[in-house]
Amino acid sequence: MERHHELRRPPGTSRFGCNLCGKEGHQAAQCAEGTVDWIDRFGLDTFVPKLPYYMIKPRAKPDYAKIEEEARLYAKTKEEAAKKVDTKTTGEKFQLELQKQIVQAKVNETLPQGWRSYTAPNGKMYYHHAATNKTQWTKPAE
Ligand SMILES: [Zn+2]
Repeated sequence: MERHHELRRPPGTSRFGCNLCGKEGHQAAQCAEGTVDWIDRFGLDTFVPKLPYYMIKPRAKPDYAKIEEEARLYAKTKEEAAKKVDTKTTGEKFQLELQKQIVQAKVNETLPQGWRSYTAPNGKMYYHHAATNKTQWTKPAE
């Protein structure tokens, strides 16, 4: 017996006994007092012997109609998604944003003191007065 086997047994137990519990008559692999739940760790399927290949039944014929239907639905979904993609390049977006800001700057020059114009997410312009925290859609006269 090798020394590292002896060290795992509880002290004072037989050197011919199990490496886990020290009792004679079985080995550590069959020990009922083992602490590792191998089935829990690897699943019961791991320990069930597999059928030889010649005893496994051939697979059932695939349902081609269902596969086709699913494939068509997938293609349609992809097509719809492709239509929604924003095709503007970064340069085009930059130009649009720049034009928007130029227009806004020109409008700001014509506004009374304290007023600034902004563009809402819907594209409509609105006006805000910072000192009074007033916001309105119509252009302020004074
Ligand atoms: Zn044992």
